[in-house]
Amino acid sequence: MNTGGNSLPSGPDGSKRKVCYFHDPDIGNYYYGIGHPMRPYRTAMTFSLLKNYNLLQHMQVFKPAPAQETDLRSFHADDYVDFLKRVTPENQKEHLLQLKRFNLGVFDCPVFDGLYSYCRSYAGGSISGAVRLNNGLSDIAVNWAGGLHHAKNCGASGFCYVNDIVLAILELLANHQRVLYVDIDVHHGDGVEEAFYTTDRVMTVSFHKFGNYFPGTGHILDIGYGEGKYYSVNIPLHEGIDDESYQLLFKPIMSKVMEVYRPEAVVLQCGADSLSGDRLGRFNLTVKGHAECVKYMRSFNVPLLLLGGGGYTLRNVARCWCYEVFSRTSLN
Ligand code: MN
Repeated sequence: MNTGGNSLPSGPDGSKRKVCYFHDPDIGNYYYGIGHPMRPYRTAMTFSLLKNYNLLQHMQVFKPAPAQETDLRSFHADDYVDFLKRVTPENQKEHLLQLKRFNLGVFDCPVFDGLYSYCRSYAGGSISGAVRLNNGLSDIAVNWAGGLHHAKNCGASGFCYVNDIVLAILELLANHQRVLYVDIDVHHGDGVEEAFYTTDRVMTVSFHKFGNYFPGTGHILDIGYGEGKYYSVNIPLHEGIDDESYQLLFKPIMSKVMEVYRPEAVVLQCGADSLSGDRLGRFNLTVKGHAECVKYMRSFNVPLLLLGGGGYTLRNVARCWCYEVFSRTSLN
């Protein structure tokens, strides 16, 4: 067993993992607009840190194949995908009804240049990661550009246009009977919960700030429905929670979930807006406390897909995701 530090992970299995990392060199160029908190550039910053610390040698780096239209349609409504594909900043004013229907062209979810390729890129990373896990080619797959948990089957929400998480889970379900989704973003993982609310083949567990906060869902009594009853777990939290209090909940809950549900694959959404000092978030986690969740989920030695999500104080996001990849997945 190992004794902490950055080199070795503790947990039931300290063995080496095959890690793959998806990165689109163009990701940093997508721009939501002036003053918008979501900056895809943070993913490029993370990559740059990993590269300059010489940490990429510990993982296989891939440029994601863009998600195909048929991939997007496996969850999203046809008319929504059609519209995403053709709307541009220039022509959007000709489609006011559709903009309203799909919640596009609003401050949170603007129509910007390259929107559809952006969606295909970040969704492609998550789907490709799931495919590698399915084929046993990697033990851990990482796509920090993904994790856009608010997108709905028929519309955008909270900076999210297509739900790459749902698409990746659908891919994992082709090879796995039970998939566990864990969400440590400061916001409730509503889009993913909704997609799998009535099935027991996916369990969703979300830790989030609750009460007068976006998106407003994630009540502790929302537990799933029908076949999915008891397969949605919500942990609503007050603002200001620190590492110690967070782990006092995270570890016992996840330990019980792993024991009872016995997932064959795990998807961990690592939204970094739960870090202290985030522009939008209201939690008080340190990078180490946040990364402890990655380390803990990794320790179960189940195929693991690590995704990004929120995170709006850029330097903290890049530091966090760089640290999580180097100290919590591959160097051991
Ligand atoms: Mn968030």
